[in-house]
Amino acid sequence: MAYKVDPTKCIGCHSCMTVCPMMAISAGADGKCAIDPSKCVSCGTCASVCPVGAIVAG
Ligand code: SF4
Ligand code: SF4
Repeated sequence: MAYKVDPTKCIGCHSCMTVCPMMAISAGADGKCAIDPSKCVSCGTCASVCPVGAIVAG
């Protein structure tokens, strides 16, 4: 199961993008991040660095 970003909580800091080992996270036009479920291996690293708890296991 891939992790997911809650866009209502994401503040667009992009910390998650820099730590994802699979490069599964990209930023949209609004700066908020989204996770590609086909690339995510559910390691949880992104969730551990998100300052606002916007990333949760799907
Ligand atoms: S759980 Fe791991 S692989 Fe999936 S998006 Fe987060 S850092 Fe990347
Ligand atoms: S670390 Fe959290 S707040 Fe920062 S861009 Fe990623 S999901 Fe958004």
